[in-house]
Amino acid sequence: MAIKELPKNFDFKDSEKRWYGYWEENGYFKPAQKPGAKNYCIVIPPPNVTGVLHIGHALNNTIQDILIRYHRMLGEAALWQPGTDHAGIATQYVVEKELQKEGTSRRELGREKFLERTWKWKEEKGGMIIEQLKRLGASCDWSRIRFTMDEGLSRAVREVFVKLYEEGLIYRGKYLVNWCPGCGTALSQLEAELGESDEQGQLWYIRYPFVEGKGAVIVATTRPETLLGDTAVAVNPEDDRYKDLIGKMVRLPCTERKIPVIADAYVDKEFGTGALKITPAHDFNDYEIGLKHSLELVQVIDTEGRMTGPVGKYKGMDRFECRSKIVEDLKEQGLLEKITPYPVRPGRCYRCSTIVEPTLSEQWFVKIKPLAEPALEAVKSGRTRIIPESESKKYSNWMENIRDWCISRQLWWGHRIPAWHCRDCKKITVSRADPDKCRNCGSKNIEQDPDVLDTWFSSALWPFSTLGWPDATPELKQFYPNAVLVTGFDILFFWVARMMMMGIHFKKDAPFYDIYLHGLVRDERGEKFSKTKGNVIDPLKIIDEFGADALRLALVLLAFTGRDLKLSMKRIEDTKHFINKIWNASKFALSQLVDFDPGSSRPGEQSLADKWILSRLQAATRETIRLIEQYQFSEAAQAVYHFFWDEFCDWYIEWSKPFFYRPEKPGQKIAAQKTIHQVLDSALRLLHPFMPFVTEEIWQAVPGHGDSLMMADFPAPDNELVNPSVEDAVKDLQEAVSAVRNLRSENMVPIAAKVKVLVLADDEDAANFFKDHRLYLESPPSVNIKELEVKAGTEKPGSCVATRVRRAEVCVDLTGIIDFDKEFSRLAKEEEKILKELERVAATLAKPGFADKAPREVFEKHLGIKIDLTEKLAALQSNLKRLQNLRGRIK
Ligand SMILES: [Zn+2]
Ligand SMILES: [Zn+2]
Repeated sequence: MAIKELPKNFDFKDSEKRWYGYWEENGYFKPAQKPGAKNYCIVIPPPNVTGVLHIGHALNNTIQDILIRYHRMLGEAALWQPGTDHAGIATQYVVEKELQKEGTSRRELGREKFLERTWKWKEEKGGMIIEQLKRLGASCDWSRIRFTMDEGLSRAVREVFVKLYEEGLIYRGKYLVNWCPGCGTALSQLEAELGESDEQGQLWYIRYPFVEGKGAVIVATTRPETLLGDTAVAVNPEDDRYKDLIGKMVRLPCTERKIPVIADAYVDKEFGTGALKITPAHDFNDYEIGLKHSLELVQVIDTEGRMTGPVGKYKGMDRFECRSKIVEDLKEQGLLEKITPYPVRPGRCYRCSTIVEPTLSEQWFVKIKPLAEPALEAVKSGRTRIIPESESKKYSNWMENIRDWCISRQLWWGHRIPAWHCRDCKKITVSRADPDKCRNCGSKNIEQDPDVLDTWFSSALWPFSTLGWPDATPELKQFYPNAVLVTGFDILFFWVARMMMMGIHFKKDAPFYDIYLHGLVRDERGEKFSKTKGNVIDPLKIIDEFGADALRLALVLLAFTGRDLKLSMKRIEDTKHFINKIWNASKFALSQLVDFDPGSSRPGEQSLADKWILSRLQAATRETIRLIEQYQFSEAAQAVYHFFWDEFCDWYIEWSKPFFYRPEKPGQKIAAQKTIHQVLDSALRLLHPFMPFVTEEIWQAVPGHGDSLMMADFPAPDNELVNPSVEDAVKDLQEAVSAVRNLRSENMVPIAAKVKVLVLADDEDAANFFKDHRLYLESPPSVNIKELEVKAGTEKPGSCVATRVRRAEVCVDLTGIIDFDKEFSRLAKEEEKILKELERVAATLAKPGFADKAPREVFEKHLGIKIDLTEKLAALQSNLKRLQNLRGRIK
């Protein structure tokens, strides 16, 4: 059989392009429909259509690809459903920026033209991330790609909205929402992000004079301008300082209004003065207190962040300008008690960073409790499993305290709310098809609600809308519920919880059996990647430079459940070495298979090494399967990695070499060929989900292969081949080999020097064992044995150094091996050099002021050098001592 020879190096660029094209052309990414096959479906967390592949995507999609390739190789009908999200605010922002450059704006263009323009942008530039996912090797069924605003998905959105409205689960109401005055839109609680760290703010202590009698109650606030909207001052009922004040009226500074002092247990006695100003229209906690005490809602800041309402001369001022003015006025009136510095962490718009303003406005809401309860139950009952387990507690907590979901956004790009307002009777018509008249009064004078739905509304339907819902498609029947959702835990609430609620409500079953939440990718120090820190690792650059396989394996080796990943370039270089190792080992194996016929039935004569590696292969296979099934990706990758490198390359290939080169033992050669063929073939299958390109490239050169490795069967462990006694015997041989290697290096035997080795076995049995397998002691690299003597006994010459292993003592004879004079002078020179360097670095460190004035990194670097040198010196001196002892014994 002709065998393809592998080129010297793995050309990953060429290989990635060639194989990805081959897989896609042949339809391998589509689920195979074999009779009786299990169904396995993953829906991709849809990347934003504006998105560019970042390292977090790379991890997320590598994990999904591992799962889908693994299940495909198990023969299941495996669908990885891809698509992108229209990303309302993000996309609108991108197009608005373009318009700005052109000197025009969204409003100037008008809604219709703007949407046309945005669609055009989407067709031309959106979805770049899809091409980038392909470069990573993602085996999604691209023929099924969906977009949250395509026709089918928009129909699903409309159906859900109308149904929920009909069920009374969607309502319209005045509500306090997080408002971004910069973007002019309501934000969800999660989009109004709290900053990463505190900002320096201030606490203003303001006197609110009593209406009757002298004196005042002093309140502390970080936002003095909001006092214009105060409708009460609250104190804790347990607070002795204020007991007598409850029920009294105070005068609201800078206004004509009078407000009451009320008691509420929510008030923290320790904060400020223990008296809290209550602004129900501009603070979430105050809003709750206001509801409890039926306080009036006085709105004083409008949607553009300007002062409005009963604010007198402050009307029209920007909220921050008003803050300065109010403070000035309070000072003048003697109502400002004091100002103290105070750390604050205001909510900021996730898109434009403007400080968010809680504002009352007319919005659409989903009544969430009736949806949250079954979604909570699905996780509590174990119907849906969250991995890691700790995250399911967070999920439950959040679900138990969930607020109604504000779903309207004041944007143009998105699913427009299917509700029409009647200008005549003021009633609302909500409809699946666009109505031409008011359902209540029949008037044609109707207008569609201008708002669009929160982007997460459509992505909440993703697990079933992508499969064709609301139609009863075969895909929906086959692939719902999805097998698993793979996502970062940062969107557990944003997205996962909402998919759970919508899936259960509309499909009567939770959307996933498992939810696997992976960590964040951080830099090697554990810090978040950020452009300002300059520590960003661009996955596309890594793919260009090292190949997709190297990136994938580096990420997955770090993917321990429940932990963030610390990625460094070193990690990627390490996996690149592993790929070279696979390549070179495979080249060797294939070169031994030139005259091999995989169909031949000639039995051959199996060596201990053959039996051993086949036994180890079963263990590696079993472990890999178990670990993938348990979502322990790092451990699974390590299991294959160690099998391939430590066992197959480092031991088996070295041991098998003599069998290939001994024509007098043809049976041994045949068995070795069979073994190396089987192990290489299986190892490539085990490795394939982790590193699809290099494995396919090699596998195509292995004799007897099929069309594609990605369609080949995943190995199943064969218990017949498990052989504990062989594994045990091999352990004895490995120990002996390691003993020779260690004795050589500990005693500074030059690498090229051949040594005499004596194995003193504990008894005749052991002696016979080592004699029978002397080849296993002599053939591995870096033992370099010139003469091997094996006998039972304990007598050894004084010129030997020795180590105990199981069943024997391994001795290396050093007679004539070491040129002591030369060694001594080499070590002495080395010692002198280190001492000099040490002196230099110590002098730098001791310079006056160095420890305090030098930049931290410079100081730490010098300290590091000093520690390294000190360690080196200690090692060298111990070697010198050892050498002196040896000379005493051997001469
Ligand atoms: Zn904004
Ligand atoms: Zn009407």
